[in-house]
Amino acid sequence: MQSCITCGMPFVGAHEKEIGLETVDGPVCVHDVSEGHIRPAKEIFAGGVAFFQHAVADGDRALAERLTRKNMRTLSYWQTHPRAELDGPAATDAEFGAAMAKL
Ligand SMILES: [Zn+2]
Repeated sequence: MQSCITCGMPFVGAHEKEIGLETVDGPVCVHDVSEGHIRPAKEIFAGGVAFFQHAVADGDRALAERLTRKNMRTLSYWQTHPRAELDGPAATDAEFGAAMAKL
């Protein structure tokens, strides 16, 4: 299964046709691409926070930020392209697992 290298979104179901860019590192979703380039990390991070805040965190922005850091840090792309947005507290494995179970 292919998934977005910058946010981890799997290209299945409703997201099947949402590949916006193919890179040497892998596919990037349409949400993380602007004018043919990968969006800045801070925009992808903000998008992740907005998603988690709405989808699983009951509006808890601090939790959503920690979940987003946890998620993005698991992706090899961000391990090889570290960004300041990913420094800071991250969700625990238990918090992340609970969040994923709600998706
Ligand atoms: Zn993405």
